[in-house]
Amino acid sequence: MLAVKKDYETARNKAFTVVNSENNKKHSVLFKIDKNEWSCDCKWNSLKETHCSHIKAVISKLDKEKVKSLIKNLGV
Ligand SMILES: [Zn+2]
Repeated sequence: MLAVKKDYETARNKAFTVVNSENNKKHSVLFKIDKNEWSCDCKWNSLKETHCSHIKAVISKLDKEKVKSLIKNLGV
């Protein structure tokens, strides 16, 4: 399981820490708002063009929150 924690948010960046609960490894994921670009400090992300599992974990968490707030706004 990957746990996503939001570190901070500025006008240009959003920073997250993703912790793998199986081996306790931490990775720093950064979203550059102005470039619409994700980065992560893991090896996978520097080797491959695709998003690593840490970035995907952050995106899916953000998507879930978006859905939740949409539902809230609809008053369902
Ligand atoms: Zn990663």
